[in-house]
Amino acid sequence: MSGLFSAAFLRQIGWDVDVYERSSVELVGRGAGITGHPELFDALEASGAGTKDLGVEVPKRIAIDRDGRITDERPLPQILTSWDRLQRLLRATLDEDHYHLGQTFDRVEQDESGVSAHFVDGRVEYADILVGGDGIRSSVRGQMAPEVQPIYAGYYIWRGAPNEADLASQTLRTVYPQFTFYLPKRQQVIGYPIAGFNDELTPGKRRYNLIWYRVADAARLREMCIDENGAQHDFSVPPPLVRKDLIAQMRADARDIMPEALLDCVMKIKQPFFTPIYDFTAPAIVFGRVALVGDAAANARPHMGFGMAKAGTDAQALARHLRNHDDIDAALTAYNTERQPIGNCIVLHGRKLGCHLGVNLKTEEDRRMHDLLQSDGAMLDWIAVPNFLASYR
Ligand SMILES: Cc1cc2nc3c(=O)[nH]c(=O)nc-3n(C[C@H](O)[C@H](O)[C@H](O)COP(=O)(O)OP(=O)(O)OC[C@H]3O[C@@H](n4cnc5c(N)ncnc54)[C@H](O)[C@@H]3O)c2cc1C
Repeated sequence: MSGLFSAAFLRQIGWDVDVYERSSVELVGRGAGITGHPELFDALEASGAGTKDLGVEVPKRIAIDRDGRITDERPLPQILTSWDRLQRLLRATLDEDHYHLGQTFDRVEQDESGVSAHFVDGRVEYADILVGGDGIRSSVRGQMAPEVQPIYAGYYIWRGAPNEADLASQTLRTVYPQFTFYLPKRQQVIGYPIAGFNDELTPGKRRYNLIWYRVADAARLREMCIDENGAQHDFSVPPPLVRKDLIAQMRADARDIMPEALLDCVMKIKQPFFTPIYDFTAPAIVFGRVALVGDAAANARPHMGFGMAKAGTDAQALARHLRNHDDIDAALTAYNTERQPIGNCIVLHGRKLGCHLGVNLKTEEDRRMHDLLQSDGAMLDWIAVPNFLASYR
C-alpha cells in the first residue's frame, strides 16, 4: 500500500515511477479489516484513488460483558473498510506498464546522482531515488539499517472475517452493526462489519472482522509457529497451514469466555489465523537516495488501526518535499525530519495502548496506563479513535 501510495503521489508531481512487487500474483483476498481515519480518507482523495464505496459505517462503539450486556458505549460514526478495497482503489491509480509483479528486491547501490536497484532475478533498474515500501521486514531497511529489528510485543491476535450471511440472527441484531469490544482480563476481542468479497456492501453479503488479542511468551509463540506439516516458521504461519490443534484449542477457549454473539463469530470463521504483534522505530528513514515509507519506516502495534493512514501520509509528505525543493537530497532530508518523529510517536502511542494487556510493564507510566485501560469506557475512548495525533502536536 505504501508503495502504491508513493507511486500515485510522485506521479502527481511529474515523476516517472515504477513499482516492483515480490508477489508473482495480484495481491487480493487478504481480508483484513481497516479502521478508517480522516488522514487515510484525505490521502486516498489526494492520491486520486478516491473513497468511493469505501466501507461500512458504524454509528457507535459498544463494550459488552460475558452475558452480552452493554457495559458502556460511545456515539462515534466510523467507516470501516478492508485491505482488499483499499488495494483495488490504489492499484487502479497505476497502469500495468509501471507495476511489476514477481520482482523481489535484493540490494541497492547508490552515489550522489542516484540509485541502482538490483532484483534477485538479475534485473537492475536505475533511478533518482529508491522508495522502500516493503513492509515490516523490509529488505531495503535490512540493507540500510540492519540493526533495526521488529520487537515481539508479547502478544498475538487470532483473526478472521466470517460472512454476514452465516451469522446467527441474534449476532446480527446485537454486535454486528457496531464497533464492538469485549475485554476479559489480559485479552481483547474487537469486531466490526466490513465489505464482503469483491467489495460487496449489500446487507447480507458483507463480513465481520474479528480480532482476539491474547498473551503468549516468545517460547509459546515459537511453538505456535510450527505449521500443520511440522515445519517451523520464523514469524508467523500462512493461514492455510495454521495447525488444526491450535484452532481447536482456540475455539475451546472461546467457548469458555466469550459472549454468545462473539462466539458465534469465532465459530463461523472458516480459516482462523494468527498474527504475532511486533513493533519498532528506526533512528533514520532516509539513507542517501533511499527513503523508507509505511511499515518499512516504522511499525506500530495495530491498536490504533493507523498503518494504512501512515502509509498514505508518509507517501504524501515525500512527494510534497520533492515538489517543494529543487534539490533531491534536501527534499529527502526534509522528509526524514518531518516523518521520522511522527513514526516514533505512532509506535510509542501503540505501546501505551498495549499496556492494557499487562505485558512487560516497565515504568510507572506503563502501570498507570495499564490501570487506566482496565475500564471498558477508557478502552472505548482510546482504541482506534480518530485524530489521536493532534494531541502530540
Ligand atoms: C493484525 C493487524 C491489523 C492491522 N489493522 C490495521 C487497521 O485497522 N488499519 C490500518 O490502517 N492498518 C492496519 N494494519 C497495518 C497495515 O496492514 C499496514 O500498515 C499497511 O499494509 C501498510 O503497509 P505497507 O504498505 O507499508 O507494507 P505491507 O502492506 O507489508 O506491504 C509491503 C509489500 O512489499 C512487498 N515486499 C516485501 N519484500 C519485498 C521485496 N524484497 N521485494 C519486493 N517486494 C517486497 C510485499 O509483498 C508487500 O506487498 C494492521 C496490521 C496488522 C498486522
